[in-house]
Amino acid sequence: MNVALLDLGALNAQFADELVEASARVVRSGRYILGPEVEAFEAEWAAYCGVEHCVGTANALEALQMLLMASGIGAGDEVIVPANTYIATWLAVTHAGATPVPVEPDALTMNLDPERIEAAITSRTRAIVAVHLYGLPADMDAISAIAAKHGLAVFEDAAQAHGAIYDKKKHTKAGALGTAAAFSFYPSKNLGALGDAGAVTTNSAGLAAQVRRMRNYGGVGRVDHRIVGINSRLDEMQAAVLRVKLKHLDVMNYKRRLNAITYFKRLKNAPLILPPQHYNGVFHQFVVRSACRDALQAELARRGVDTHVHYPVPPYREGAYSGRRWGSFPIADALAVTVLSLPIGNEIDVEAVALEVADAAMCVEAVAA
Ligand SMILES: *Cc1c(COP(=O)(O)O)cnc(C)c1O
Repeated sequence: MNVALLDLGALNAQFADELVEASARVVRSGRYILGPEVEAFEAEWAAYCGVEHCVGTANALEALQMLLMASGIGAGDEVIVPANTYIATWLAVTHAGATPVPVEPDALTMNLDPERIEAAITSRTRAIVAVHLYGLPADMDAISAIAAKHGLAVFEDAAQAHGAIYDKKKHTKAGALGTAAAFSFYPSKNLGALGDAGAVTTNSAGLAAQVRRMRNYGGVGRVDHRIVGINSRLDEMQAAVLRVKLKHLDVMNYKRRLNAITYFKRLKNAPLILPPQHYNGVFHQFVVRSACRDALQAELARRGVDTHVHYPVPPYREGAYSGRRWGSFPIADALAVTVLSLPIGNEIDVEAVALEVADAAMCVEAVAA
């Protein structure tokens, strides 16, 4: 067996003809930055997410950073973030000039635990950033209720949740669940470009307009620079690629769900903690937990199954954040040493992979006992 965690070449090869055609269209157009492809993708992505506005950006880190800056959040302000997210969530807060305030996740969903948020709110708190980790929507009703009570903004870090459905009856999706959302289209995301790309989605015309200025040096077009902006534009080539892949997003997510169903079936008796069985999520990663995680990963590697750890070090333990005393986050720490992501994003022989995972989990547990 030789199964990669994610084979992006194979994934994108399915759309090769369409991608080449879209790229050629951009080459011939003579427009490479902020042109018709970006405008069209912004309209298509806003419609897909069910919001009024989308602003394309260079990546998700800056999308989130600009949302905070455009909301007037900066020095002296605090922003609540999950203790167990990718470090980019924290860096966006730091680059905006504000201070990240970590809150532990719920041990089962691995998403921000609403019950722990209020204890972290101070007179300086301005916003909550909810991450839909591994493609599972966070508990946005509870988070929004707390935010409303304390007058806070709610931003979604939706970098792992393209197409994730929150409320099936209302058909609300990630990107439409808070004040505004930040998306990443990094190549390995559920909707991935062929390079870096990102976006902001929101129903706030004011916030969208402000981010639109901010991404392009703070000006309107080339003039009238009223705010201190940055350069975080989505380019035409990536927008054209994203328009192609957006047409296939629901099918790609459906295939991930089918893989997840097989994992749930075949791993239900394995000595592993399985992720929440929530088929409205989009399984950006299929994350199991094992007390013998490192041995399990090594055993699977030996059997030809590539896995990855998302994430081995909680942001507060990273060197970048070593200048402060953070308190203790035992749930985030426990996740960091037990989580393991299995292959899910390709058309793989998932039955065979699941059997190897179940067997390897039994073996490493027997050795540990
Ligand atoms: C990928 C990711 C980001 C960063 O996205 P970029 O486009 O690389 O800046 C932020 N948050 C989460 C949760 C991510 O998975």
